[in-house]
Amino acid sequence: MLFSLEPITPKFEVFKQLNNELLYFLEQALPVGTFTRNSLSAGAVGKACWDNVKGTKGKERLTKDKFQELHSELQKLTSAERKNLFETVRDNQNLQGLFAAPNHQLLTFLTPGCLIAFKELASHLYCSTKSLQPVIDACGGVAINTHFNNFKMVNGDVCRACGLERIAPFRANTPLEEQWRADYDHLLCKSKYPLYAVHPDNLFPICQICNQDAKKAEDLFFCRSTNRARTAFYPFTESAKDYVALALKNDRDPEVCIQLNWQTDDALILEKLNTWNDVFQIKNLVEGRLVSLANIIQDELNPTSLIDLQNILARRVAPPPNADTLKRKPEVFWLHKLYSYLASIDLALIWDQCHFIEEEHGQPGGEYILVG
Ligand SMILES: [Zn+2]
Repeated sequence: MLFSLEPITPKFEVFKQLNNELLYFLEQALPVGTFTRNSLSAGAVGKACWDNVKGTKGKERLTKDKFQELHSELQKLTSAERKNLFETVRDNQNLQGLFAAPNHQLLTFLTPGCLIAFKELASHLYCSTKSLQPVIDACGGVAINTHFNNFKMVNGDVCRACGLERIAPFRANTPLEEQWRADYDHLLCKSKYPLYAVHPDNLFPICQICNQDAKKAEDLFFCRSTNRARTAFYPFTESAKDYVALALKNDRDPEVCIQLNWQTDDALILEKLNTWNDVFQIKNLVEGRLVSLANIIQDELNPTSLIDLQNILARRVAPPPNADTLKRKPEVFWLHKLYSYLASIDLALIWDQCHFIEEEHGQPGGEYILVG
């Protein structure tokens, strides 16, 4: 995460209660027995899950069926294994604690059948149960679109993972509840960590590129390419923003390239930065966005001379963008990093190199593109 989430980020009540329901179910399934109404809580959320059965939607298997299938698999385990599952889920509810001591093998003791049933229930709770009207009614009437708007009120429009994109566009003349919203990212993916499929601290919206193009089901605690366990930033309290810097990749190359570097010697923070980069492809995305320095100078700064460029940069660097601007406007964080770097080096070199690129492409006069 480039930016941590605000401490007052609202928790989605539906997730809280569905997560409680899951925990209740696992505890009720400890003794040998059959699946009954008492397997779910007596309250409105338990009733909504119980009442959501096969019926008008044909062959689709709904919430009650998913609970029942997991119950059936749990009955095939020993009582010690059922107890182990319940205690694992109960004792790992503190995600901040888990991020401090990551464990990517929480559920490895489960049988394949039990794990599949757990994943299917978890996926169903997230994908199909959270939007049932009786569930929403039981959770104060706040649906996910309202929670999304409340999240944006606190954390802004800019993706907290990358700082490059909006999490969703805002449409004028459109009621809040009808605004488009971003998908919620499962920090710990639900396919590997079904116990967190509806955990309120495991879910928040990020941009589509981060969620669906880059991260997908990557495991924050385990790197596939190195086959090693790893640590990751806990997004409510930790972030990368203080440890990143931009610089020229090779200042003798005619194609001026900007490179994103880590700015810390702390081994643990370096590991978390590398996890962030591996999961969200941050270096490639940032360097890709800044791939043409000449274009950025023209598009964003539009200087008329080298002196003008130096003066514009001095104004852009100080004061830095304030917290509200960083939440409202994508790219501002990265552009400020870029301007800070450019203001610290010999700009004559950059100026000449930008000219060089244009002359290489046959544009008449070195200042053509920069002067406009
Ligand atoms: Zn993003």
